[in-house]
Amino acid sequence: MATKSAKRHEKKTPLPSPAFLCLFVFFVAHHSDALLAAKAGFQRALRGWFRAHARALPWRESPSPYKTVVSEFMLQQTQVKTALPYLARWLAELPDFAALAAAPEARVLRLWEGLGYYSRARNLHRLAKEIMARGGVLPRTPEAWRELPGVGPYTAAAVTSIAFGARAACVDGNVVRILARLTADGTEFRDSASAAKAFAPLADALLPADNPGAHNEAMMELGATVCLKRSPLCLMCPVRLFCAAFRQVQEPEQGQEAAARSGPENFPRLAPKKTEHRAVVRVWCVRRGALLLHRASADAKRLAGQHELPTAAQAGLADAAVVCGKLLARRKRTITRFAITETIFRAAPPRGKLSDGLVWVPLAKLDTLTLSGPHRRWVEEILAATT
Ligand code: SF4
Repeated sequence: MATKSAKRHEKKTPLPSPAFLCLFVFFVAHHSDALLAAKAGFQRALRGWFRAHARALPWRESPSPYKTVVSEFMLQQTQVKTALPYLARWLAELPDFAALAAAPEARVLRLWEGLGYYSRARNLHRLAKEIMARGGVLPRTPEAWRELPGVGPYTAAAVTSIAFGARAACVDGNVVRILARLTADGTEFRDSASAAKAFAPLADALLPADNPGAHNEAMMELGATVCLKRSPLCLMCPVRLFCAAFRQVQEPEQGQEAAARSGPENFPRLAPKKTEHRAVVRVWCVRRGALLLHRASADAKRLAGQHELPTAAQAGLADAAVVCGKLLARRKRTITRFAITETIFRAAPPRGKLSDGLVWVPLAKLDTLTLSGPHRRWVEEILAATT
């Protein structure tokens, strides 16, 4: 028990200001410990900024679990501005889980066409069917959501925290970037998945008990609009006082090497990716007003059920023979770590029975089937140039 003199002393000793405490903990402790020690202030600063600056997005105006789920699936590999028109079309045609579950797969894939990674659309379709099979009752915990098709830790945390207030932190590339900078963590991670795993405990520890969904949204918004990969807008950042990487800029270390390795753009540190170059030879065969296409099998991960111009091998032809034909187009694209050069040559139609996956599609019916995004562009370009 405290003595009377000790109590008197307590009363007389002024408390240090919050700013002093904040600076003190930053200097005496490891950066993540310091951040956690100041987490109430961090949460307040972040939430206050989000209330004032959040972009008006369709899943925020009149929110619903369905909108959150669809938007999270779309945003898994796609930027917000690209996904917005798709989302608007999707919600207009398939406004809820019941409508999605009842829709034919071809319609679902058609609405997704151009977004790529079609397994997301198929999983979303399966998820809606699963939910309707359970009487339309939505699970409320991240663990239960993770049992549904296509739902990983990030989507489970986003959906349950935003829709049901579950205390689950979302950790994606944006959040990793913010946390790595806030703590100036110099660890070199193998890839973004291992970085996300490493930062998950800190993200969890920073989550407030009150409205964790808004905190998660605020973190995502900060990563998307302020704590940018290149040239982050630190002077406008609501949490700059808590940021170790920002402080490195304000109080630069001596020496060129130290200076080169400090500052926000140096975090997170990811091992450089090795780009692999690939060349793909495709064929353009038209016979009696129909185009030869290849349909990916229903369980193909990236292209499930999508049509593309066939490769020479899919058409049963050797690359060396095909490249003697007329070159119609040469296109470059990047998919994950692959830099791909695609060349499309006119070729004679294959004889006899078509191999598995090949189909003749009347040119007049191209609009009714799903072509993977770049292939629809290429087909339109070649048709425009050759007819
Ligand atoms: Fe990111 Fe800069 Fe804010 Fe730090 S101060 S969190 S680096 S935007």
